[in-house]
Amino acid sequence: MSSTFFAPGFKTSPWWWEAAEPPTRDNALPDHTPVAVIGGGYAGLSAALSLARLGHQVTVLDAERIGWGASSRNGGMVSGGMKVARTALAEKLGAEQARNIALAAAASFPFIEETIAREGINCDYTRCGRFVAAWTPKHYDALARAADYIADITGLPTEMLPPTRQQEALGSGHYHGGMKAAATGSIHPGKYARGLAMAAERAGAKLIDQTRVGGIRAEGSGFCIATNRGEIRADAVLVATNGYSRGSDGKSAMPWLARRVVPVASYIIATEELPAETMDRLFPGRRMISDTKRVLNYYRPSPYGNRIIWGGRARFGPSAPEAAAPRLHEFMTAVFPELSKVKITHAWTGNVAFTFDFLPHIGVQDGIHYAAGCQGSGVAMATWLGHNAALKIAGAANQRFALDGLEFPTVALYNGNPNWFLPIIGGWYRLRDRIDRLAA
Ligand SMILES: Cc1cc2nc3c(=O)[nH]c(=O)nc-3n(C[C@H](O)[C@H](O)[C@H](O)COP(=O)(O)OP(=O)(O)OC[C@H]3O[C@@H](n4cnc5c(N)ncnc54)[C@H](O)[C@@H]3O)c2cc1C
Repeated sequence: MSSTFFAPGFKTSPWWWEAAEPPTRDNALPDHTPVAVIGGGYAGLSAALSLARLGHQVTVLDAERIGWGASSRNGGMVSGGMKVARTALAEKLGAEQARNIALAAAASFPFIEETIAREGINCDYTRCGRFVAAWTPKHYDALARAADYIADITGLPTEMLPPTRQQEALGSGHYHGGMKAAATGSIHPGKYARGLAMAAERAGAKLIDQTRVGGIRAEGSGFCIATNRGEIRADAVLVATNGYSRGSDGKSAMPWLARRVVPVASYIIATEELPAETMDRLFPGRRMISDTKRVLNYYRPSPYGNRIIWGGRARFGPSAPEAAAPRLHEFMTAVFPELSKVKITHAWTGNVAFTFDFLPHIGVQDGIHYAAGCQGSGVAMATWLGHNAALKIAGAANQRFALDGLEFPTVALYNGNPNWFLPIIGGWYRLRDRIDRLAA
């Protein structure tokens, strides 16, 4: 490993795990549970919490440790459904449905804030806002056109900062201005996963780890779930396996769902500690930052603000975090040249789940509930999808949720493994980013 990038003691596990590594649990598998939730990330845990609070007995099964997936590996940016609001939905679905979907997505933000407060989850939450940095002047114009709509949908202000004012939000001249948006917070994702799990357990949910579901079949009025530890029967099942829906052995708890989500690896590095003066200069206002590149960068100060957490799509095929880390370091120093000598203490990866219509989904297929597809923006959204799936299972939803039961597209011959086409699409997107910039 090159000493240029890596600090002594460099680790390939999430920096978040230093404070909140997902613990192992020692729970026996029951023969029967009224509700089984497969996948113990934010979606599954949030569903379990809501079901338990509504008085239902629920068991969460995870193939690894509870919270082990994207939910303890992400960037911790809590987005108020902005990604959905920026999707060009109106042309496809009409203005009214597009607005209903955007509002349903934006409701994830107050919901996660309320969940954190109500359950007393200690996860370093702050409503810090976001700066979306424009890669080109055209991207700036597009953001400016979307800014009022985003403010309207999220109910929180946006403000355009032209290049001359960019330094108010970001200590870099790398971009062409951008948009400040108030509907964003930051959390420590590992602490949030741990806190949500504890809240679900407190409410009465049973959490079982190291239990990989290999298949679900209808049996009588319920389901028989086959796992590596034996069978469990359930009256209702929710599958919340998101970017891990297809196992490395090609098997899946719900193959129908695996064919509809595209797992994409996202990579993150954490830097060594930096002086407060540097952090104040690079991150005035301590906002979450993302840019408008097709192959985007997202970065932020760590909780307590003394190191940088930098994420992006460094590779488009399966790759070890230490192989992707130098690329992320390169992206970081393109934005902050003064960090060229700063070393990396941690590098890690996790899977996000894209869908072919770029929308999150909940719904029911063959009697099995599912919640998936947060497009890399799922801290609030997965929590919200899980809750809405729980309301549906409990028969407690008092209004229609706009992301429920939408047509959920797949493409011919896609079996849930995108590794043969992602490098091609990724390379093309990267090239287009370069061309856009050269043409700017
Ligand atoms: C590197 C990275 C950075 C990200 N940054 C951000 C960010 O800054 N902001 C944001 O909003 N979102 C971000 N995301 C996305 C966000 O983390 C996810 O959308 C969210 O955590 C998804 O939660 P989930 O519960 O749906 O899935 P996960 O947390 O991935 O949980 C799925 C679980 O299912 C389990 N599982 C899979 N198959 C089986 C099976 N057969 N049997 C039993 N269990 C199974 C897995 O072990 C896993 O624990 C990021 C994601 C990654 C990977």
